[in-house]
Amino acid sequence: MLYLCGEKRILMQMKCACGSGKELNQCCQPIIDGKSSAVVAEELMRSRYTAFTQANGRYLIYSHHSSTRKTVNKRDLESWAKSVQWMGLTILSKSGNADDETAFVEFRALFMEQGALEQVHEKSLFRKENGEWKYVSGKHF
Ligand SMILES: [Zn+2]
Repeated sequence: MLYLCGEKRILMQMKCACGSGKELNQCCQPIIDGKSSAVVAEELMRSRYTAFTQANGRYLIYSHHSSTRKTVNKRDLESWAKSVQWMGLTILSKSGNADDETAFVEFRALFMEQGALEQVHEKSLFRKENGEWKYVSGKHF
């Protein structure tokens, strides 16, 4: 039991994978778990990056806008997310406030794939659906 408590304490203090510097449980995890909602699109973007590092296909599908959800597949997302090693996220630019209906976030996500450092450099479009930010699509560079 002591060992389990110690392990739990370590998990509680884990920094969030999105690079915010905040604790995971104070950052992306509550959004991923549905305990809170992303206030701005950047928070949803960060939570999706963190979900990729967790190979959480369920959340990646959930956070997809219904208009483009059919373009992704939970199993494919999970197997790809597991096959790479996530190295970090950088937000390059963003637009949109909490009250807006659409927003853009441009980011760079680094990952190791088959021994090579790769990146996703994307400008993502987010749109609210039933009051919640969702990922619509992205333009790759
Ligand atoms: Zn985070």
